[in-house]
Amino acid sequence: MFCPKCGKVLSDTARFCGNCGYKLKVSGNRKQTGVETNKSIIAALGCCICFIILVYFAVFHIPKSDWCYSDISGGEATIKEYNGKENAIVIPETVKVGWFSYDVTEIGGSAFEGCSNLTSIGNR
Ligand SMILES: [Zn+2]
Repeated sequence: MFCPKCGKVLSDTARFCGNCGYKLKVSGNRKQTGVETNKSIIAALGCCICFIILVYFAVFHIPKSDWCYSDISGGEATIKEYNGKENAIVIPETVKVGWFSYDVTEIGGSAFEGCSNLTSIGNR
């Protein structure tokens, strides 16, 4: 490296210039510390990204039922919509919503609207 003040060639481990006495701010040790800081920043960033991905999965990938219900009252449920991708399905007898079970008593008029994959709907 060179002395920033007088421009004399100095060894990389020099702490001050032997020519003009200028105190060198960048030493070999400080360079290493800088590299370690960069590494820990990258590691912290990686952790942050992992955390964000984990939160994303926890929030948006809650196991979803293929069935959508409406009018859940008095232990009875009306199927409003089918969201699954199966070709052949069987209408469930009961559905679980949270901690409670409901008997399926009705299927909405447009419950299977847009289900182009659906080839058969079985009876329970
Ligand atoms: Zn110098």
